[in-house]
Amino acid sequence: MKIFNTLSKTKQEFVPLEENKVRMYVCGPTVYNFIHIGNARPMIVFDTVRRYFEYKGYDVNFVSNFTDVDDKIIKKAIEEGLSSDEVSKRYIAECKKDMEGMNIKPATKHPLATEEIGGMVEMIKTLIDKGFAYEKNGTVYYRTRKFEEYGKLSHKNLDDLRSGERSLLVTGEDEKEDTLDFVLWKPKKEGEPFWESPWSEGRPGWHIECSVMSKKYLGEQIDIHAGGEDLVFPHHENEIAQSEAANGKEFARYWMHNAFLNIDNHKMSKSLGNFRTVREISGQYDLQVLRFFMLSAHYRSPLNFSAELMEASKSGLERIVNAADNLKFLMGNGKNTVMTEEEKALFAKTEEFVKGFERAMEDDFNTADAVAAVFELVKYANTNTDEDSSREYLAALLDRLVKLTDVLGLIVDREEDILDEEIEKLIEERQAARKAKDFKKADAIRDELLEKGILLKDTREGVQWKRA
Ligand code: AMP
Ligand code: ZN
Repeated sequence: MKIFNTLSKTKQEFVPLEENKVRMYVCGPTVYNFIHIGNARPMIVFDTVRRYFEYKGYDVNFVSNFTDVDDKIIKKAIEEGLSSDEVSKRYIAECKKDMEGMNIKPATKHPLATEEIGGMVEMIKTLIDKGFAYEKNGTVYYRTRKFEEYGKLSHKNLDDLRSGERSLLVTGEDEKEDTLDFVLWKPKKEGEPFWESPWSEGRPGWHIECSVMSKKYLGEQIDIHAGGEDLVFPHHENEIAQSEAANGKEFARYWMHNAFLNIDNHKMSKSLGNFRTVREISGQYDLQVLRFFMLSAHYRSPLNFSAELMEASKSGLERIVNAADNLKFLMGNGKNTVMTEEEKALFAKTEEFVKGFERAMEDDFNTADAVAAVFELVKYANTNTDEDSSREYLAALLDRLVKLTDVLGLIVDREEDILDEEIEKLIEERQAARKAKDFKKADAIRDELLEKGILLKDTREGVQWKRA
């Protein structure tokens, strides 16, 4: 399996630190608002990477944080007359809802920065002891000149950066030894949340969070560290400087970065007012469509969000779901028989699509080509089945389709959401409620079923139902 590593700027063969195990950290969002579709890109991409490793039999320890202490959260809290904690808790809950809609697996652990401050203070102490950090008036800075490999991830010319940064110095930071030094700990301002530390009552800088949470939940060395390409510098460069100086070992073996999502060919940004939240999109489309759209491009290519592409994704996804539905329909009506010799030969040919799918995924997770392989399987299944097909053959095709789409996190077989007996039971309850003139309850049951895609029709012969 080959992964493009930002450190070496080449595709490298993936060799895990420990056999059959992957330790993976993905930088999560800062929670002060609903997540936008740009934030959704790394979530979907790296969830798919995780799913492919799992498909290959790896045990994946997947850690992704929520940054729940930050200037933007504090600002939002003041605007809304809430505490920072109330703001972050609320948006973590909303983010988890969106993640569920996009079928993103919960991480093995979602650490919160505010619950890991003790570990951050410890790492900062170690960095000071080793001479990699210094304190000035309650603020602790990282001494970038001391870390010889500083810049190895972003491949930047440090002298150019230094002269660029000089004019950008934030007031109060002119006490730094070097313009590239960054904050590890800063004193509180009036009204801000704070924690005790040997240097001041204050809070950690952003970069130290990830170094500490990654170490605590995955160990000093990890296989993959990932995030959007805007995080390469300074965030990930600084994480490397902190972790490698404190632990004395290489931090992550592979650094993966997704390209940006643009909107109508413009950079999506809050200041331009052209960003779209995942929640807004969920009003228009099933979030599975958004997921499918994201995977239709390679993760290292910029991707443009537009109404046309979303419509194309919607019909593309429908084609796959329809093929699965068709197989299930034939299975329901078909003969309960085993595969014929001819079917065995037909089925063996689908191996080719599985291979194509795997080849694409093994080449730095080329999901665009993997999707193409799924379409080939869909076409093949549509043309090589009919009412005479055996159930065993149909089931084997369906299983193959579901296995591949599951790697992409696309749900093509929703049927198990609600079983027929459950539907019948709810319909009976609804009839009883109507008889008792409890129309509120009756309507609630109808709505509940509708949400699960079950349509009811009251007829003279009784209630009929069908899946929408
Ligand atoms: P933030 O909350 O800004 O730290 O972002 C959380 C994650 O979303 C990071 O991995 C960012 O790199 C990523 N991200 C933010 N905006 C975009 C975008 N427009 N396209 C792709 N990734 C993005
Ligand atoms: Zn991070």
